[in-house]
Amino acid sequence: MKDPKLHRGIKTRAIHAGEAPDPVTGASAPNLVMSTTFVTDPDASFSIEGVEEGSGFIYSRWGNPTVDQLERKLADLEGAESCIAFGSGMAAVSALLLHLLKPGDHLVISDVSYAGTAELAKDTLPGMGIEVTRVNMSDLEAAAAAINEHTKLVYIETPANPIMRLTDVAAMADLAHASGAALAVDSTFGSPMATLPLKLGADYVIHSLTKYLCGHGDAVGGALLGSTPEMAEIRKQMLVHVGGVLSPFSAWLIMRGTATLPIRMAAHEENALAVARFLEDHPKVTQVTYVGLPSHPQHELAKKQMANFSGMLTFQVAEGKAASRVIARRVGVFHYAVSLGHHRSLIFYLGTEDMLASSFPLNAEQEAAYRDYAGDGMFRVSIGLEDPDDLIADLEQALEGV
Ligand SMILES: *Cc1c(COP(=O)(O)O)cnc(C)c1O
Repeated sequence: MKDPKLHRGIKTRAIHAGEAPDPVTGASAPNLVMSTTFVTDPDASFSIEGVEEGSGFIYSRWGNPTVDQLERKLADLEGAESCIAFGSGMAAVSALLLHLLKPGDHLVISDVSYAGTAELAKDTLPGMGIEVTRVNMSDLEAAAAAINEHTKLVYIETPANPIMRLTDVAAMADLAHASGAALAVDSTFGSPMATLPLKLGADYVIHSLTKYLCGHGDAVGGALLGSTPEMAEIRKQMLVHVGGVLSPFSAWLIMRGTATLPIRMAAHEENALAVARFLEDHPKVTQVTYVGLPSHPQHELAKKQMANFSGMLTFQVAEGKAASRVIARRVGVFHYAVSLGHHRSLIFYLGTEDMLASSFPLNAEQEAAYRDYAGDGMFRVSIGLEDPDDLIADLEQALEGV
């Protein structure tokens, strides 16, 4: 008989996958196991080398029951064979890059990405003998030209933080694989409710769990997903030995958040669409970039590879830097703060000169493509779960001062 669990809907799986009532106490909610050590068999190994899959818990850096439950839930939602949870999104990003890339290898990475990733690729990897080419990943020809016989990994973010530019995951997977390279996708902005990169041909998926998966702005974490043999090797070398493990308490909070991901993402999308439409009609707003609007330059690609348009959007006004001081002072419902994916709405201004100076210096062609999305600077907005009318009213009164 077929396993009926495989045919359950996404809302059911978000709640039940990875979890089961506690066999000893019958507790229905997942246990929070903070124990660092576990009473073991006297024959158990003292090194991770001797530990076999399924041999039980020994020490919490090697594996923890609460973290394990979260990993199983995330693997299920992402359609992955295996998942490794890390202490932050950047721990997951660096684990993959440092594991795969050896001196002489070549990395092709988006010219615009999350600042931490961009700075790691720009400042750290070249010093380790890794050649890095940064390219506009919405331009398939540019990406194809950047890939060579030394390219080990192609790394993309879609939608890209912070400008909301998309990459065609299936086309990029074909390009990478044609040259024998692997494709990694940072899918933080969309979450598994938007896009399942592994199903589109990617080899690895990364999430900052700090964002939509946790969903409540109270736990930092990261995840890397892929095939079981590779995840087992990365777990040993880059989690157990490098040591950036996720706290069980954070795992427990993120698991609680993940259980409501499907209904939260639907609500984020609905609210974001309402706010995006309001901003598009606002006389002081010069550009709105939201993948759910027909005005997004890649709306057709968004419809093709995103089942949910998420709650992330950007908008521009004249004199954005000066406006940011006014808006930061006037908002009441929105918090003027970095990060994203929380139930609370967040807004933050990212000036183009600042971004190019600190995180990703661009050549003239790349900068022109960046400015198509970001202008001289934009407000990055993470639309939360409040009443959309309150969000619109808050932005309306804040923009009155601009
Ligand atoms: C936040 C973020 C990260 C880093 O995650 P942390 O949990 O802050 O370490 C990586 N990628 C993207 C797209 C992000 O938004």
